[in-house]
Amino acid sequence: MGKILIIGAGGVARVVAHKCAQVPEVFTEIILASRTLSKCNQIKKEIKEKTGIDIHTAQVDADNAKELASLIKKFKPDLVANLALPYQDLSIMDACLDAGVNYMDTANYEPPEVAHFEYSWQWAYQEKFKKKGLMAVLGCGFDPGVSNIFCSYAQKHLFDQINYIDILDCNAGSHGHPFATNFNPEINIREVTQVVRHWDEGKWVETPPILDGGSVHFTFDYPTVGPKESYLLYHEELESLAKNIKGLKRIRFWMTFSDNYITHLKVLQNVGMTRIDEVDYEGKKVIPIRFLKSILPDPAKLGSNYTGKTVIGNVMTGTKNGKKKSVYIYNVCDHAQAFKEVGAQAISYTTGVPAMICAMLMIKGVWKGTGVFNTEQLDPDPFMEALNKYGLPWTQTEFKGKLLE
Ligand code: NDP
Repeated sequence: MGKILIIGAGGVARVVAHKCAQVPEVFTEIILASRTLSKCNQIKKEIKEKTGIDIHTAQVDADNAKELASLIKKFKPDLVANLALPYQDLSIMDACLDAGVNYMDTANYEPPEVAHFEYSWQWAYQEKFKKKGLMAVLGCGFDPGVSNIFCSYAQKHLFDQINYIDILDCNAGSHGHPFATNFNPEINIREVTQVVRHWDEGKWVETPPILDGGSVHFTFDYPTVGPKESYLLYHEELESLAKNIKGLKRIRFWMTFSDNYITHLKVLQNVGMTRIDEVDYEGKKVIPIRFLKSILPDPAKLGSNYTGKTVIGNVMTGTKNGKKKSVYIYNVCDHAQAFKEVGAQAISYTTGVPAMICAMLMIKGVWKGTGVFNTEQLDPDPFMEALNKYGLPWTQTEFKGKLLE
């Protein structure tokens, strides 16, 4: 049916490549291109062993839109799936415009020199994509991605109006390292050291970062894994959902962190290892957070000893036929099972499967349009069905638990 060009060869890209290879009737050709060719070739080898499918590989610097555009023109994919880093979003979108191909990603743009992410930079591509008759789908991993689609599904089928949304992301797994991040350490640490924001009655409310004494947290009783301390965190889907879910009064995002993770990160921050500016080290310019990334465990390789589960979902409260109701929709994913299937832990798996589903719906023309879209702006039904079919089954229940009011 169509060709896909996957950019990146990290934890998430690996899952997307494996999952695409499992659906050869949709993805007739796959090319995996990244900065380090040997990582692409390693994934190619594993896919051949698991599925018998041959994929193509290539080396590319996705910061260079021209170089990437010529690769796209040579291979002529129907879709470019950006699973590199948020820094590359704009250059990859530029290359797609140049080469006339649709685009998707899982994280919004962030300039390397400022630890700040927002959609404005990518939303600014709206007219350019429209003019070329192309489609760009932003943020289709689990959160953002599935977390947005749970909202649009609830809006379409379960509520007349949703007033309150709490997205709760729990990793109750154990990787056996004293300290490691579950996706790219640089991006992860930049995200969790930020000032926290949530949206309340039409405005953004700021609270201290999770490493500060004054951070907002509470114990949430997650299905399957039990009570876990959950910290208020700013997450990118809050921005688009606050805009696209009409009548919303409040939206918050919560993530679990162990005391051990917070203690390590506090120390690293206090000694300056999370700095994103250049420092002079023996006559060389070094960016401490990049050095730190280079010595931390590679999230793409955490999978082999990972045990436990992730539980990610939304509690949504609103009204239906004049009556108040609260619904919880969530997925439980097992680290070891994910590793057995595609050689990756559950964080990469829960991001990569939705990315593959997005790519599949775009290639099939089920999700179509011109311009730039967040996932809640597209039909949730085929996506929700595909989650059940391709490895991320979800549960919907009446919510009777307790949130922080
Ligand atoms: P990794 O660091 O494991 O992988 C990133 C890959 O991108 C690496 O293979 C890297 O190459 C490649 N890359 C980096 N820069 C370039 C470049 N200039 N040109 C070509 N390739 C490049 O990250 P993850 O797989 O953990 O994360 C991938 C993306 O998924 C990130 O944007 C992350 O924010 C997002 N994400 C989204 C989630 C969601 O739920 N929405 C959850 C988790 C992650 P090299 O191997 O040479 O370093």
